[in-house]
Amino acid sequence: MRLLLFGPPASGKGTHGDRLSESLRIPEISTGNILRAQVSLRTPLGLQAGRLMERGELVPDQLMVDIIEERLRRPDCHRGFLLDGFPRTVAQAIALDRLLQAMGVRFDRILYLAVPEEELVRRISARLTCSVCGRSYAFDHTQPRPDHCEDDGGLLLVRDDDRPETARRRILVYIENTFPVLDHYRAQGLVSEIDGRGPIEVVAKRILAVLGHDLPAPDLKATERFTPGAGETPAGAGRQ
Ligand code: AMP
Repeated sequence: MRLLLFGPPASGKGTHGDRLSESLRIPEISTGNILRAQVSLRTPLGLQAGRLMERGELVPDQLMVDIIEERLRRPDCHRGFLLDGFPRTVAQAIALDRLLQAMGVRFDRILYLAVPEEELVRRISARLTCSVCGRSYAFDHTQPRPDHCEDDGGLLLVRDDDRPETARRRILVYIENTFPVLDHYRAQGLVSEIDGRGPIEVVAKRILAVLGHDLPAPDLKATERFTPGAGETPAGAGRQ
């Protein structure tokens, strides 16, 4: 199955992307995670992207299209994939249409996680991220703040681009540049809008209800857990 998880920053794409990737056994391709891995490796791409990311700006379209093309052509994408964070501009969406057409495949569904702006700001201001695996935690300001990741003991920090100024800029960039991508896919009849408010389990049920008829029969021989591709943070990254 080929899916796109679409939504504003902190709408839950990482959380639900992890779950869907595991249950459908398809790789989750998060361009944010790919870029963060490059930033921490201090590659030339990471240095260029890092400067833009810390201001909440978008990385240039052509760089992103090249990254996604290289990733989608890897063999683990033959059975399907789930994109998170790409495309973020109409130009990226048009380039992706061409790429998918050249590969002879198409999206099955675009899942749009709709969350109101006030809720996004609240979630971002209450989000801590593991400095080792990238898993994110929602914390309650009235409770003691958690320090370490439950999975690997990594220190929990505020993600650089979750600081209030940058977070506000990311939301604005989403409204101006990314939101119009929805119309591009609406014109193709691919968009299912999902109410992204409320507890994770409730939102997960709404997503499954949309995909219900598309979900493959369980593969009884499949016992191994899907492992993410090189250059991405492990499963768990982005959960909130
Ligand atoms: P995310 O983790 O998806 O919120 O992405 C974090 C940051 O990475 C964004 O604020 C952008 O600076 C950059 N980024 C991720 N995906 C893209 C994309 N498709 N196009 C441009 N910039 C991107």
